[in-house]
Formats: sequence, structure tokens, C-alpha cells
Amino acid sequence: MQVALFMYFKVCRMTVEEQLIEYAKQGKLVTHKCTECGHLHLSTAYYCLKCGSKGFEDVVLDGVGSIATYTIITVAPAGFEKYTPYAFVILQLDDTPLRISGFMAGIATPAELPVGTRAHITGFDERGIIIEKQ
Ligand SMILES: [Zn+2]
Repeated sequence: MQVALFMYFKVCRMTVEEQLIEYAKQGKLVTHKCTECGHLHLSTAYYCLKCGSKGFEDVVLDGVGSIATYTIITVAPAGFEKYTPYAFVILQLDDTPLRISGFMAGIATPAELPVGTRAHITGFDERGIIIEKQ
């Protein structure tokens, strides 16, 4: 029983991730809107954080917003040295309560990326969601 549940969970996660990647490559973000109360979530949510419902419909948003905060990475994990320096950014999406994390290349100092900078999703690669200034 445990094995079956684990497999089911794994298959579901892959599907959600593949969908996220496909839309990110088009500059979009797929989200889950609660069919009971309308609350919007990232597609990784399994139940509504507001009402507990498990009913969702996909809503695809433009991956556009402004930088809420970020961390500059100067010491990369193994295999990612070629990307440094870069920023791990949190993008506040326009007209939603949602924030998504991603990677922005070529950011070495805070002066290069003021909080509030307009930015958008431009793709997905081994780093995850790629975000660039607009
Ligand atoms: Zn809900």
C-alpha cells in the first residue's frame, strides 16, 4: 500500500512539473484556481489553502511582475559555477497574490537589480525557471 501511494504521488508530481516547464518555456505560469472559492495557488498545491478543497482548475498567467526580493549567488553548487554570479529571485506576479522563484543571470551587485524591477519568465533549464528584466 505504501509503495502504491508513493508511486501515485511521484507520477502526479512529474505531471505537474512537466506542465510547469512547458508553460515556463512560453513565458507563462500555470496556476491552480480553487473551484470552490476561487483562491489562486501555484500548481504545486494539492489542496486549497483557504477552504481545504481539492478541486482545482488550471489558470495560465503571463509570467510578468516585479522583483520582490532576491539573493545573489557567488558560490554556486557543483556544476553551476559557469553561471555565477547570478541571482535567485522572487518574482511577484502582476494582479495576483502569487510569487514564484527563479534564476536571473549576470547579477553581481544589488545596484544591478533594485527591488521592484520589472521582470518576466523567459524559460526553463537545469537551474529552474529563468527570469529576465523586462
Ligand atoms: Zn478554496
